[in-house]
Amino acid sequence: MKIEIISVGNEILSGNILDTNFNFISFELSKIGYAVFSHKTISDDLDILKKEIKRSFEENDLIIISGGLGPTEDDRTKEAVSSLFKMPLKLDLKLKEDFERRFKINKYIESQAFVPKGAIILKNEIGTAPGFIFESNKKSLILLPGMPDEMKKMFFSYVIDYVKKKFPLKEKIYQKDVCLCIISENEVEPFLEVLRKKNNQIEIGIYPSYSSIRVNFKGKNLEKINSFVKSLKDRYKYFVLECKTIEENIKKLLVEENKKLALAESCSGGYLSSSLTFLPETSRYFLGSIVTYSNELKKDILKVPEEILKTKGAVSEEVVEAMVKGVFGITKADYAVAISGIAGPGGATDKKPVGMVCIGVGKRGEKVDKKTIYLQGDRSFIIKLCSKYALGLLYLKIKYPSNISKIFEGL
Ligand code: ATP
Repeated sequence: MKIEIISVGNEILSGNILDTNFNFISFELSKIGYAVFSHKTISDDLDILKKEIKRSFEENDLIIISGGLGPTEDDRTKEAVSSLFKMPLKLDLKLKEDFERRFKINKYIESQAFVPKGAIILKNEIGTAPGFIFESNKKSLILLPGMPDEMKKMFFSYVIDYVKKKFPLKEKIYQKDVCLCIISENEVEPFLEVLRKKNNQIEIGIYPSYSSIRVNFKGKNLEKINSFVKSLKDRYKYFVLECKTIEENIKKLLVEENKKLALAESCSGGYLSSSLTFLPETSRYFLGSIVTYSNELKKDILKVPEEILKTKGAVSEEVVEAMVKGVFGITKADYAVAISGIAGPGGATDKKPVGMVCIGVGKRGEKVDKKTIYLQGDRSFIIKLCSKYALGLLYLKIKYPSNISKIFEGL
């Protein structure tokens, strides 16, 4: 079975927006065992649309198109398909009534109630542009709106079930993910290479993110996948995450333990805090962050001794230790993380290069664990990477309190 995804829009072609729809659709299809054969981005010119849709329909079994379904002049996907399949546009009274109920109707909205006769209509529960399915000669063409939220909702509400029913898989493809924090792609690759040699029928993909990776196992043999998952987890046991993102893991652990967290940030300038607060209900465990970018604030607010700042420098394990203690002094937090580093491009010295970051992680009443890391990249990369790394260290500290010194040493 051949699947093609087509993204429509001059904004995508010109590089003004990133094609996240393709990424989403392809990823979700792969999760349920369907591999996308090709992907194309095309302009919203009517002739090009007709030509490309015709070609795609000849070459593929399932085509999913996103974009160009709206009411404006440059939205021509519906028109192109209606003309190709000889399905004239007709007013759908039910859709019109629905629009009247949900929106203040005008001629643009009303135009969305004109649908190709004979197509399956997919209701847009967020906006107005409906989606469509055209079927012909055992092939299907699915049109989805371009707005990512609308497209996703429609995809989950209708497309997954439709595809599974219309194109049942002959053999089930299984997939499992293992997410690891702190461990890099380079570290895990040799281990995965050994697994690949044991069974090349299982596809193994590594997807790195800042300071964490997702390893995906895909194949027909579930038993083998499970055994690969087990050996990877056994090999990197401390670093295995239960949930996909490090933030979710921290939230889960701290909420379960009913513990509170506070931060002291220097080089990350609040990024650490911001990464946590993207998740809802962060207030259940997060007290806040004290951004002490200057030495002055480190001294005045966190009571970092001037002597340490002078002798060791702001980027030092001694200073992050004092910052952690400072957080405990002025908050009721059970856990505290402090971060201080040289994000660059300036600020390096002979002994302290750009990318050097010191992280302190503490639990109230216990000794502060510290780690110095050396990262490479530009300023924004270093800030993101060291923040996620610090969260990884915190995760380890909460999860493995008795082994933490050993784990930190091994990093
Ligand atoms: P609607 O009427 O709901 O806007 P539409 O099908 O007309 O749907 P488009 O006009 O093609 O949608 O796109 C609307 C917006 O959606 C674009 O301006 C862009 O911000 C976003 N968008 C479109 N296609 C994509 C894509 N492939 N990836 C990410 N965003 C997209």
